[in-house]
Amino acid sequence: MQFDYLIVGAGLFGATIAHEMTKKGKTCLVLDRRAHIGGNVYTENIEDINVHRYGAHIFHTSNKAIWEYINQFAEFNNYINSPIANYKGEIYNLPFNMNTFNKMWGIKTPDEAREIIEIQRLESGITNPKNLEEQALSLAGRDIYEKLIKGYTEKQWGVDCKELPAFIIKRLPFRFIYDNNYFNDRYQGIPIGGYTSIIEKMLLGCEVKVNTDYFSFRQANPTIASRTIFTGAIDEFFAYCYGELEYRSLNFKTEILDTDNFQGNAVVNYTEKEVLYTRIIEHKHFEFGNQKKSVITREYPHSWSRGNEAYYPVNNEKNNVLYEQYKALADCCDSVIFGGRLGNYKYFDMDKTIEAALEVASCL
Ligand code: FAD
Ligand code: UDP
Repeated sequence: MQFDYLIVGAGLFGATIAHEMTKKGKTCLVLDRRAHIGGNVYTENIEDINVHRYGAHIFHTSNKAIWEYINQFAEFNNYINSPIANYKGEIYNLPFNMNTFNKMWGIKTPDEAREIIEIQRLESGITNPKNLEEQALSLAGRDIYEKLIKGYTEKQWGVDCKELPAFIIKRLPFRFIYDNNYFNDRYQGIPIGGYTSIIEKMLLGCEVKVNTDYFSFRQANPTIASRTIFTGAIDEFFAYCYGELEYRSLNFKTEILDTDNFQGNAVVNYTEKEVLYTRIIEHKHFEFGNQKKSVITREYPHSWSRGNEAYYPVNNEKNNVLYEQYKALADCCDSVIFGGRLGNYKYFDMDKTIEAALEVASCL
């Protein structure tokens, strides 16, 4: 054995494990089949702007220990995510708050907003929401659901809102105060200089091979490490023996523009179904940039099939049951530990990813 650990995936989960194990004096080989480290948090410098190659990544957490942990590797700025929604040219503040209700209905007070939502909830006849549509209607009423949720969600997930679990929409704050902060968390920001340098620092002291797929590497090097940490897709690891889990994939289309300010905000969501992308990111605004040019990325969701990148697990009941079958196989495999968004098939944010990795590392 040449290494104590073979870590598959140089994303945030793999890099956290690598950092912790190196600190304990263990040797780690980290592989990634992409051409770079960082996984989905990878940022690259284009026109002196840190571009979030795989979609907007805003670090937010309520866990002080995790905030302090990530701050070892970078200084964070005071960016607060406040996306806006564009519905057929009408602009609304997100998340759903008094600014949104004021624009939607012309009302000014929380009582007025509550009254309208309650009337719309009663009209829809929902008492015990069983799916995303019912959850959204009972929380926000029909106007908000139809203009700001239905189209966006159905593009994002590729199915009718009635077929989606309610928890997806519960991620978003819904408040009766004038507050456009997209998150409720105590700590929030963007690492100054981008995420890639965080991952570089985490991987110091490890051997790293990019452009290297685990499955072919394993064949050629069956005894390279005594244990493997696998952060790729768990169904792929087991050669889809019980069938495929479902994922959503994304296409990112990036353009360099000859303007210093394209949309006036880092994130603009396009909430009608007819516009095929879900959002446009203008990267410079994450770091309050004043470069002469701008870089924007449109995000197009699409269905996943083998060979595409899997970005989001589709955590409905059918897939969760299938995942449990794969997990039972994984639990019998002592030499491999599965982790991260794809290895655990969970919609982890960055803070939860680090938290889960630190928990695994503490037992190794
Ligand atoms: P990944 O980053 O996916 O890393 C896994 C790595 O494993 C990949 O690099 C992959 O190439 C590699 N790999 C897989 N299979 C193999 C193989 N067979 N051989 C070699 N390598 C392999 N979180 C937030 O907190 N805030 C946000 O604003 C936010 N925005 C997001 C926006 C989008 C569009 C997406 C998709 C996610 C977002 N997240 C956000 C979540 C965040 O990206 C994840 O929490 C985090 O990246 C998970 O890290 P990971 O290491 O588990 O997975
Ligand atoms: N959502 C919506 N309208 C929006 C933004 C989000 O309906 O303008 C819904 C959509 O179902 C999405 C979920 O809220 O999947 C969670 O949104 P979030 O921004 O957290 O998604 P992510 O950044 O993880 O893609």
